[in-house]
Amino acid sequence: MPDADIHADWFEGQGLWQEVPAADWQDWGWQLKHRLTTTEQLERYMELTEDEKAGCAHANQKLALAITPYFFNLIDRRDPACPIRRQVIPRAAELVISEGEMADSLNEDGHSPVPGLVHRYPDRVLFLVTDRCAAYCRYCTRSRLVSNAQDYNFHPEHEQALRYIEAHPEVRDVLLSGGDPLLLSDRKLEHLLSRLRAIKHVEFIRIGSRIPVFLPQRITPALCEIFKKYGPVWMSIHVNHPRECTSELRAACERLSFAGVPLGNQSVLLRGINDEPEVMKALVHRLLQMRVRPYYLYQMDLITGGAHFKADVRKGLEIIRALRGHTTGYAVPQYVIDAPGGGGKVPVNPDYVEAITDEAVIFRNYEGHRFTYPLQTRPLPAGAAVPVTANLKAE
Ligand SMILES: *Cc1c(COP(=O)(O)O)cnc(C)c1O
Ligand code: SF4
Repeated sequence: MPDADIHADWFEGQGLWQEVPAADWQDWGWQLKHRLTTTEQLERYMELTEDEKAGCAHANQKLALAITPYFFNLIDRRDPACPIRRQVIPRAAELVISEGEMADSLNEDGHSPVPGLVHRYPDRVLFLVTDRCAAYCRYCTRSRLVSNAQDYNFHPEHEQALRYIEAHPEVRDVLLSGGDPLLLSDRKLEHLLSRLRAIKHVEFIRIGSRIPVFLPQRITPALCEIFKKYGPVWMSIHVNHPRECTSELRAACERLSFAGVPLGNQSVLLRGINDEPEVMKALVHRLLQMRVRPYYLYQMDLITGGAHFKADVRKGLEIIRALRGHTTGYAVPQYVIDAPGGGGKVPVNPDYVEAITDEAVIFRNYEGHRFTYPLQTRPLPAGAAVPVTANLKAE
């Protein structure tokens, strides 16, 4: 990956849509209405590879094709391997189902007491409020239901889900997701947030959304007022590559932050897109500049037709090693695998600890040097000199 690619300036402007009045460009309704959703529309702006044409031809049975004009501008149209392009333009490999892949690999449906509500952990629920997104990620973990291309016919039952939460005092944390909750109207969102806020035992409300990345125009002052009114509302955005960090995204994050919304980021480790330490480092640095704290780095779920995106777990560990200690601690996300079958998110960490005995812990630091931390607590003989510090022995 050329260095200029990951350290490029913060993209701004209307790119291919120069002739569109700025007021339209900034209108999220305009962006949604002008999404690129067919092969023909894409081909008006770019040359597709044969592989992509085959993928596009079948998108309607797999996961819908849709890209906002704003996000399309970030694609390098001359480069078939462009990391932005590969996230949103279908390829033929999506139709290949590999061993180990599943329709619902996390068994979300098996943990749903009400359609669209996943209650896997004792104290928190995942509330799927819609199956629609501003644009569609080809590796989407919920592609079984998102966009309804697979005729899953997902019908979120908001009222039933709210009643379930009201009736379950152990639920102290509600995560709104989907699909993308910010695709709902202000009115619907306000209704959901006000109902949740009125439940005494719900202490923590958060939203998972890729809208700031696909459609930053949606983060309007009116929406921010709703977050202020029912806050604190936390938000996890979803950025995978430093080139998605544009001036528009930065401004949207600023509006959210100033409305009191703490921001985190979730990235999916994607082969050939962000599975290199240099790319991930550039990404997390940009996130901090946008007031966004990297939260999770996900190993890809075992969705059908996702094998071409699956990165090596050793690569993920190499990335975490390259970050921890080498950069700001706030910049280091937790790398997790969501356990197939529905075991929840499990941290995968590089091994720093070499041994633990009753006497000591022996571990290595970020540079690979070995250190000892004693566990025994024997008093120092009276009169013995107090050491100033430990001997730092590089091994
Ligand atoms: C990810 C997830 C959550 C939230 O997990 P945190 O680790 O608290 O962010 C809750 N429920 C389900 C089903 C999830 O997949
Ligand atoms: S925005 Fe989220 S839910 Fe929507 S397609 Fe992308 S990963 Fe799936």
